[in-house]
Amino acid sequence: AKKGGRGDYAFFEPRLLEAAEHNRLLENDVREALATNKMTLAYQPIVDARTKHTVCREALLRWDHHIRGAISPERFIPIIEDAGLIHQIGSWVIREACSEAMRWQDGAAVAVNISAAQLSGEGLEQTVIDALARTGLDPERLELEVTETIFIGDESETLDSLERLRALGVKLVLDDFGKGYSSLGYLSRAHFSKIKIDRSFVRGAAEGQRDCLAILRAILALADGLEVITTAEGVESEREAALLSSLGVEQMQGFYFGRPEAIEADLIPERRLAQRQDA
Ligand code: C2E
Ligand code: MG
Ligand code: MG
Ligand code: MG
Repeated sequence: AKKGGRGDYAFFEPRLLEAAEHNRLLENDVREALATNKMTLAYQPIVDARTKHTVCREALLRWDHHIRGAISPERFIPIIEDAGLIHQIGSWVIREACSEAMRWQDGAAVAVNISAAQLSGEGLEQTVIDALARTGLDPERLELEVTETIFIGDESETLDSLERLRALGVKLVLDDFGKGYSSLGYLSRAHFSKIKIDRSFVRGAAEGQRDCLAILRAILALADGLEVITTAEGVESEREAALLSSLGVEQMQGFYFGRPEAIEADLIPERRLAQRQDA
């Protein structure tokens, strides 16, 4: 591939490089981005279906690559994991999200995504303890989102890790529910506080697909029986929101209610002041 300024190799001529080589180069960029604070968090509101008030915000990792532009976390998180950097980044995300939430005047919770590698490795529990202690955030306001992939492998070890986290008083959330190979058994064994229904069901049900609607109803009935809160993901229109409300979904998240973005200054008194002074 072309050699120009550092970093501009693979992205212009991706086919010239093996995927592994490509990832190795991106990995170097990840290390540098970390060292120079190029990763940021965007926050997306999760609203109460009835009141439409924001009850939680999900922290979503953002990386604006110096050449390639914004790269999706679905793409770069696996690279971070392969590079053995997920604990470093994951710890930063947890600390940053907790201290951000401490500034919110509306008292909304903050949700952080935890990958399977993060959960199975050492140190997550201590990271959470430290972040809570350092920021003073009420553990009830911290939600940890995991997907079903955490159950691949040693299930009893996974349940153990989850239980230790739950003992800290934080909430456990099962993300993307229904997307994978959902074993309903996980739901009761792991004591999740909340499940997030994957956006494919939201879309399908709104488009009138009867199987999606049936599954959605079944998930909601199950959640109700287990006393687990439900959040619908990927709500993009008023029509979808109305349908989900009528089915009894308790919380909603999606572009219709707000995109992931840097936190609004008016939530935070000192930033509101700084904005006024700028004007
Ligand atoms: P997720 O946790 O399921 O996050 C929701 C994703 O759906 C986000 O994508 C969000 O931008 C997107 N989304 C929200 N509302 C809508 C909508 O109305 N329509 C559509 N089409 N999409 C919507 P994003 O930010 O690209 O993140 C992708 C995934 O990357 C996340 O899925 C999560 O699994 C992972 N991720 C993001 N940040 C972190 C992090 O800090 N740590 C870890 N381990 N994973 C993260
Ligand atoms: Mg999530
Ligand atoms: Mg999700
Ligand atoms: Mg996801």
